[in-house]
Amino acid sequence: MRVKHPSSPAGDTATSRPRQAEAAGSAGVVPTGKLPARAGRGRKGPVVPDAATVAEIFRRFHDANPEPRGELEYVNPYTLLVAVVLSAQATDAGVNKATRPLFAIADTPAKMLALGEESLREAIKTIGLYRNKAKNVIALSRQLIERFGGEVPRSREALETLPGVGRKTANVVMNIAFGAPTIAVDTHLFRVANRIPLAPGKTPLAVEMGLEKVVPEPYRRHAHHWLILHGRYVCKARKPDCSRCLINDLCRYEAKTI
Ligand code: SF4
Repeated sequence: MRVKHPSSPAGDTATSRPRQAEAAGSAGVVPTGKLPARAGRGRKGPVVPDAATVAEIFRRFHDANPEPRGELEYVNPYTLLVAVVLSAQATDAGVNKATRPLFAIADTPAKMLALGEESLREAIKTIGLYRNKAKNVIALSRQLIERFGGEVPRSREALETLPGVGRKTANVVMNIAFGAPTIAVDTHLFRVANRIPLAPGKTPLAVEMGLEKVVPEPYRRHAHHWLILHGRYVCKARKPDCSRCLINDLCRYEAKTI
């Protein structure tokens, strides 16, 4: 069975720069410097809506798409982890194209080790940064076997000790694989959260912390799915499609296109 996952959050890529990859979205854009005008602490700008308005925003996202699904394919928690690591600075479609045949022969850490780094490199050579990603996937597979009995750990602390895995990748895996109400901030979510604004912040971590404070509990599990998809397909970076935005009457973005 192939399951889809709702975002294209970037995993950490090069071992030498996992935090940078954490901040990057699927398009490989590091959110720093992409803040809308006047967003951020200590600056003037639209204020976060009141609790009732925030609840209404998520009620509408929920009603429009109760079970949000995305495009990154996986078949179990391990392949989800690998797919997210591979998705840094790559498109979901590009990752899926490579992982469909890969996961057919290597859907566990042991099988991935048996495949070997050279063959893995060959299998994912169409994905950006594939050399470092192959190295990380082999290293994290080995550590999963040696330290976690071949299973993907459920805690952020444990996940973040794995090669190529940082906070955002950990949040995605915890949310999608284990149902934790974590919020993985990619470049799309970062932009949307600052525009509405739901949780203005200068860094992905600040936005994540802000969202954890304002998103009503019933909507926490899927909050990042809705916001990422909204940013990818409606509230786009260059020109938000405000005329077909289901929260355009509630959004306070000063450069709305309606
Ligand atoms: S109204 Fe426009 S700027 Fe505001 S969330 Fe919708 S698409 Fe984005």
